[in-house]
Amino acid sequence: MRTIRTIKQVIRPQLVIEGAGVLLRRSFGPHKSNPFDPFLLFDHFAFNDPIEGPIRGFPTHPHRGIETVTYMLEGVVRHRDSLGNMGEIGPGDVQWMTSGRGILHEEMPRRGPQGTIYGFQLWVNLPARLKMSAPKYQEISAATIPLVERDGVAARVVAGELLGVRGPVTEIAAEPLYADVEIAPGVEFVQSVAPDHTVLAYVFEGQGYFVDGLTNQRVKVEAVSMVEFGAGEEIRISTDTTSPLRFMLIAGAPFREPIVPYGPFVMNTVEEIQQALIDLRNGTFVQA
Ligand code: FE
Repeated sequence: MRTIRTIKQVIRPQLVIEGAGVLLRRSFGPHKSNPFDPFLLFDHFAFNDPIEGPIRGFPTHPHRGIETVTYMLEGVVRHRDSLGNMGEIGPGDVQWMTSGRGILHEEMPRRGPQGTIYGFQLWVNLPARLKMSAPKYQEISAATIPLVERDGVAARVVAGELLGVRGPVTEIAAEPLYADVEIAPGVEFVQSVAPDHTVLAYVFEGQGYFVDGLTNQRVKVEAVSMVEFGAGEEIRISTDTTSPLRFMLIAGAPFREPIVPYGPFVMNTVEEIQQALIDLRNGTFVQA
């Protein structure tokens, strides 16, 4: 029998302001101690209160040494970068951006027809050997993300494999699993996960019960919460008959390398951060 993963903690996201005054729910951000290795940050943007006024977005900023993954459910993010790429990430679309040695880009969210912006940004670390690689994008439109439905579980698989279906994002160093999973009321979802991978679940709709492999107790988790799993070989999540549960399932292989985060850069040493700042100042940050 496979062992059930423990529930290490349930994080309540904190409200933070980023970019040019954008209100976000942040579950975690980059930290030297790297507790969610290979994941560095998880932000949830949800603006639906007109009182927030005009949305100013994220004007031009650099990234080096990481991947940023944007998944939109409502509204649109327009993006433009220093390499001449531009486009729109609309509802159901994913942009998996590998910054490598460097890009400068802007990300400008726009409300959808309901007046709402709703989406997630995940930062994934790059291993030392790829931090200075050439930047690249994987732009995945909603229509090309497979939807798999089985026994009351519906999942859109962005990366990795779930319920026998492979997501379209490939060749990512962290070997991620990233999927939008919905469990209907009164259903149990059991999923095996690589024992050495970090596993997280961001619950953003409804509520469910997460079995803790240590105590065998069910832990009730309500939206919005980030669940961190501990050791084990599978996860067990169920719903009661009154409420569905929707969450982002996030898993990946830790790199176990020291990191030094500095704003939008995450490198392995202080010297590499200083070099990023020198490159920015000298105009040599971005190389075509
Ligand atoms: Fe960015």
